[in-house]
Amino acid sequence: MDGSLPIDLRSSATGDADDGAFVAEVRAFLAKALTLDLREAGRLALGTHADIEACKIWHRRLHRRGWIAPAWPAAWGGTGWSPRQRFLFDRECARNDAPILFAGGLRSLGPLLIEMGTPEQRACYIPAILSGEDLWCQGFSEPGAGSDLAAISTRAVRDGDDYVINGSKIWTTGAHFANRMFAIVRTAEGEKRQQGLTFLLIDMDSPGLTVAPIPGLAGEHEFNQVYFDDVRVPVANRIGSENDGWSVAKRLMQLARSNNTPAALVRRVLRRTVEAAARVGDDLEPGITRRLAGLRIELEAFEGLELAALAAGRPPIADATGPSMLKLIGSELHQRVAELALEIAAPGAVGALGALGVADTDHDDRTRVLAKHLAVRAATIYSGSSEAQRNVIARAILGRA
Ligand SMILES: Cc1cc2nc3c(=O)[nH]c(=O)nc-3n(C[C@H](O)[C@H](O)[C@H](O)COP(=O)(O)OP(=O)(O)OC[C@H]3O[C@@H](n4cnc5c(N)ncnc54)[C@H](O)[C@@H]3O)c2cc1C
Repeated sequence: MDGSLPIDLRSSATGDADDGAFVAEVRAFLAKALTLDLREAGRLALGTHADIEACKIWHRRLHRRGWIAPAWPAAWGGTGWSPRQRFLFDRECARNDAPILFAGGLRSLGPLLIEMGTPEQRACYIPAILSGEDLWCQGFSEPGAGSDLAAISTRAVRDGDDYVINGSKIWTTGAHFANRMFAIVRTAEGEKRQQGLTFLLIDMDSPGLTVAPIPGLAGEHEFNQVYFDDVRVPVANRIGSENDGWSVAKRLMQLARSNNTPAALVRRVLRRTVEAAARVGDDLEPGITRRLAGLRIELEAFEGLELAALAAGRPPIADATGPSMLKLIGSELHQRVAELALEIAAPGAVGALGALGVADTDHDDRTRVLAKHLAVRAATIYSGSSEAQRNVIARAILGRA
């Protein structure tokens, strides 16, 4: 285990004093570019991203300002910011309710293309990821392959210069508006199930591809099932070698750092929870006040960990378990904050969820808090469930990684 932190967290990872000029520049931009409707969309978001129309507008504004891909190398459109500046930027966006972007291209596929794409693939896809013209969804999970991803059975058979795909993907976030999908499909039966998988880039308007919505727990439409019926994909759309898709997918997940519950996301929910508590005022149970304080302390610690991870280019914990720990801590903290918000807004509601009528569209505070609580249940499932993350950590501790 690497115990040394790569940056000085005593210089206030989360405080306000430092980096004044940078933060002032960010705040000035946000004050102008982040209009009230975008802030409202950011505030109302339930799942992993805000309303897609707001996402598109916000994406374009960040792109115009040159701030759409802070984590990318500057040569490919990154900002050249230090890790600390990236952290501060995310925190300012969260404080101002900037819409959380639909970011499969920015967070996952773009960095993979930079590292492993062919020159043609980079030229074709990277500018469109940066501009927001292309939105990428992720086609990994299948009805029989979730935590056990190696069980993938959607087949791709080579036919001349194309693969022909049959099968289906499930829980595909954003497949109903994304115009492209990156996916792993089975091209052979290997000795091990991880062998024989291939990583492909698929156009969502390909003939034979259909998308069916799956409603979320809070009634929201976030994910889908995607069916492939003789869908043809050019061989040129493959990343890596045929049958080596498992290592490509693993690299993609490493580059995305597998944590889509960053501290800035949790901080948004905590801020609203504090506001709700303030509205209750003196009638707030002392137990709730204590829990609120405890969650705040945990969030500060998580922010420190995240900043250290950004600075190191990897989590400040043993490599194999670091991303799992960040995902585990972030997603479980997120859920506990959302649950406390619900207890404050609607005491007793956690035990009587059905009675509150989540599906109705009147957006009173109580309904919103309940919808948020339900949507956040998914945080410990997507991008690898808490159980799967604990298995990774335990295997590393036991030396069986
Ligand atoms: C909101 C949301 C969005 C998603 N978006 C996408 C997407 O865009 N693209 C995509 O490809 N997938 C997506 N997913 C799918 C997600 O990655 C899977 O749901 C996840 O990997 C779990 O797989 P599963 O649903 O098949 O559950 P299963 O793997 O069947 O697991 C069921 C339960 O058993 C537990 N479990 C399974 N194996 C073990 C084990 N070995 N030890 C202990 N416990 C175990 C799990 O933790 C879980 O609690 C999304 C999921 C959600 C909820």
